[in-house]
Amino acid sequence: MKIICVGRNYVEHAKELKNEVPTEPIIFTKPDSSLITKNNPFFIPAISKDVHYEVELVIKVCTLGKNIQAKYAHKYYEEIGIGIDFTARDIQSKLKSKGLPWDLAKGFDGAAPVSDFILLADLGTKNGINFGLTKNGEKVQQGNTQNMIFSFDKLIEFISKYFTLKIGDLIFTGTPAGVGPVAIADKLEAFIEDKKMLTCDVR
Ligand code: ZN
Repeated sequence: MKIICVGRNYVEHAKELKNEVPTEPIIFTKPDSSLITKNNPFFIPAISKDVHYEVELVIKVCTLGKNIQAKYAHKYYEEIGIGIDFTARDIQSKLKSKGLPWDLAKGFDGAAPVSDFILLADLGTKNGINFGLTKNGEKVQQGNTQNMIFSFDKLIEFISKYFTLKIGDLIFTGTPAGVGPVAIADKLEAFIEDKKMLTCDVR
């Protein structure tokens, strides 16, 4: 499986990092060794002094596909979960300033904790999907899919022009505003609507 991620998909987050709002999706990938499941803890890697959380909805690909049109894209995912796109902000800033790829800042071991998945059909999505993150019990991020620049379907259309989507591939769909640093002993908890989906203890 592969993990595909979208950068700057919420306007307020693009602004908080002083980035331009993109006209097409910004895509990067994480290796499968970055995945954490089953609420296992996250260990801050020695390579960074400024690891940030970014809470993101994650969709799971359920059908093999390539060159998928947006109008058919909903057939390619039926489950949703939530994940944290851990980012070594200090490394990312250095790489960005040199125009270099972000892999080292985004793909290190443990950089992708992901919850269990639930059926999208079981969520009422008429008013978008609310999701959020608490740190040590305090709300730090809150998003709604209606504020995405590129919808799930548009993302699938764009990504599948480049990558064949395979069953089990995960797509991180971008973070809302409120990203910030983690420290040892922090407890992160991620929610879809009012349901706690993911707990991530920082060690
Ligand atoms: Zn992200």
